[in-house]
Amino acid sequence: MKQERYRTFGVNNFRKVPQVEEYLTEEQRFAIEVVGNVLPFKVNNYVIDQLIDWENVPDDPIFILTFPQKDMLSDEHFSKVAEALKSEMPKKELKELVNDIRMDLNPHPAGQMEMNVPEINGYKLTGIQHKYRETMLFFPNQGQTCHAYCTFCFRWPQFVGIDELKFAMKETDLMIEYLKAHPEVTDVLFTGGDPMIMSTKRLERYILPLIEADLPNLKTIRIGSKALGYWPYRFTTDRDAQPLLDLFKKVEDAGVHLAFMGHFNHPNELKTDAVKEAVKNLREVGVQIRTQSPIMRNINDSSDAWAEMWRKQVDLGMIPYYMFIARDTGAQDYFAVPLVRTWEIFKGAYEKVSGICRTVRGPSMSAEPGKVQILGETEVAGKRVLGLRFIQGRNHKWVHKPFFAEYDEDAVWLDDLKPAFEDQFFYEEEYEQIKNGKMEEAKETEEVPA
Ligand SMILES: *Cc1c(COP(=O)(O)O)cnc(C)c1O
Ligand code: SF4
Repeated sequence: MKQERYRTFGVNNFRKVPQVEEYLTEEQRFAIEVVGNVLPFKVNNYVIDQLIDWENVPDDPIFILTFPQKDMLSDEHFSKVAEALKSEMPKKELKELVNDIRMDLNPHPAGQMEMNVPEINGYKLTGIQHKYRETMLFFPNQGQTCHAYCTFCFRWPQFVGIDELKFAMKETDLMIEYLKAHPEVTDVLFTGGDPMIMSTKRLERYILPLIEADLPNLKTIRIGSKALGYWPYRFTTDRDAQPLLDLFKKVEDAGVHLAFMGHFNHPNELKTDAVKEAVKNLREVGVQIRTQSPIMRNINDSSDAWAEMWRKQVDLGMIPYYMFIARDTGAQDYFAVPLVRTWEIFKGAYEKVSGICRTVRGPSMSAEPGKVQILGETEVAGKRVLGLRFIQGRNHKWVHKPFFAEYDEDAVWLDDLKPAFEDQFFYEEEYEQIKNGKMEEAKETEEVPA
């Protein structure tokens, strides 16, 4: 097969895309430019030519997933930037204006940074997060961008440069040391950005030492990636696609399971020959693919979309794994689906599919205390409530214990919910203690020099 040329477009050159010229009005193009100056914008030729149905624009879900939309900014923010662009404001002033707006968009939700960064020998390992006992997250330094950007992304601050890769690490040695010191960790999850943006050579420098260290506790290497959705050629015709597959096979041959966490947001991402070929190639070297996505208004807020997505994934040999609820950051007002509605969509989709697709867990919020699943609406002692439980908890003992919140149709996040029968949810006191302890620890350690 011939190698596919990779071309990306952003706020400075998207007007050159023939479809943009053909299918969008000047008003729509200007709106993209305005919002694209504030929120990250990057798209590539595969997404443009094969995923977006331009006849269906502006409602097309993949168009909304990748092209900035006018309503992602408030009217006030939008008109400020629009004015600035029209009056050709000097670059420096524009940058200040844009950064002020970004700071209004809650770039750092849920105090993630300080609390989950572990340490070794008194140093903070900024490229590692270890929140749940068995699974450690690793942010390789060179994997902190993506083949295209999702308009909903909660990592957006690093793509627009206000976070300067806060989480990222070059050193595999330190990760190995940490794993030796923490035998409870069985899974290392490579995340980003998208680790599949890296060349195979780069990736090998992280993965081979990990395998060669022969750690008895390391059972699974997980790779969280959107490349199957945004650039499946990474696993088919790219120059180093075969070496990548060989690397994955090496991992499997060493007795470590390679679990690929494929991010798909809409069934349309599963329709091309390229993605089918990519999935087949991964499966042939023993990689297992699990899938996940947040639920978002304007993109996938219907039971049909989810049922179709799960079915198609299973048809291709993938395992539906998570439905997430979008975090409160960036353009969240544009995407937010209330918790009750989310659960109705989940239930509606779950009802439509066979048990083979019901491996999916959710809907789940990755909140500070843990991943909280919405079990659904019910009545307890004459009171209308929402059942909840932890899928993952900062304390593993919290997991799978049902608890109840007051029924609230408008709530969009855990913070919005009130306990149904007590003053506090069962975990809150202990969580406060953990939080205070971690904050104290964090103060006493230094960042590892870059
Ligand atoms: C989701 C998540 C994990 C992995 O959880 P699993 O349920 O094992 O998939 C690990 N660490 C963090 C911080 C997470 O958010
Ligand atoms: S692929 Fe993942 S990290 Fe990259 S923009 Fe999309 S959601 Fe964010």
